[in-house]
Amino acid sequence: MKKKLAALLAMSMLLTGALAGCGGSDEPAQDDTAENTQSATQDESAESTETTGGTLRMGTNATFPPYETVDDNNNVVGIDADIAQAVADKLGMDLQIINMEFDSLIPALSADQIDIVLAGMTVTPEREEQVDFTESYATGIQSIIVPEDSTIASVDDLADKKVGVQTGTTGDIYCTDDLGEDHVQRFESGVVATQALVNGQIDAVVIDNEPAKAYVEANSGLKILDTEYAVEDYAAAVKKGNTELLDQINGALEELKADGTIDEIIANYIHE
Ligand code: GLN
Repeated sequence: MKKKLAALLAMSMLLTGALAGCGGSDEPAQDDTAENTQSATQDESAESTETTGGTLRMGTNATFPPYETVDDNNNVVGIDADIAQAVADKLGMDLQIINMEFDSLIPALSADQIDIVLAGMTVTPEREEQVDFTESYATGIQSIIVPEDSTIASVDDLADKKVGVQTGTTGDIYCTDDLGEDHVQRFESGVVATQALVNGQIDAVVIDNEPAKAYVEANSGLKILDTEYAVEDYAAAVKKGNTELLDQINGALEELKADGTIDEIIANYIHE
């Protein structure tokens, strides 16, 4: 309950930021340290920390409720933050969360600025060429948000329409492939895309179903179509070839799945 409230508060803060056109909380610089470090240190951290001296640097884009948003204290909170914390605890590492644009995440991983991406990131064959994905920990659906009185009722009705997406996401990739560049408008976040929909600048938004629910809840006059654009697997990603960390994280995820921790974390935020 409390977490739901926190997520909604974070949402409204993000919306306020977006309306004010400041986007300030979107991108604390990548060298952020103290405040953005959410640490739960365990003492016996020695052996498993050779990668980065005991800190697991997670990159994310905290405009994606309930997987990641920014709370009142500028901390990143949500399903991915909790899962990453549980993984870090298992590995005896501190967790540092670094908030950046979604399409900066894979480049940051490749450039060793972060160790892991947890960002509701969908496993795709193209991304698999650039990063190594862990086992999947959740499922996502690409949903379509439209105004309540829209004539758009299915994926087919999107042809010839203007569709808003978050830059670099699978929603962006599918819509660009299916509808063509001219029919896609890219935004820095789903929040901003949804605002453009409310303002009548676009006809629909294609975005993952859980953030879609939060955006529709936060704005009146919108609905989610009862149709799925695509069903996807979310996974964490590490730098291509970082097999040691990949194996450690997969081991931790396996234990956290087996003992019910992952289900519990998800159930804290998503109430079916
Ligand atoms: N699941 C989508 C993707 O991977 C969107 C993720 C996000 O915006 N954080 O592209």
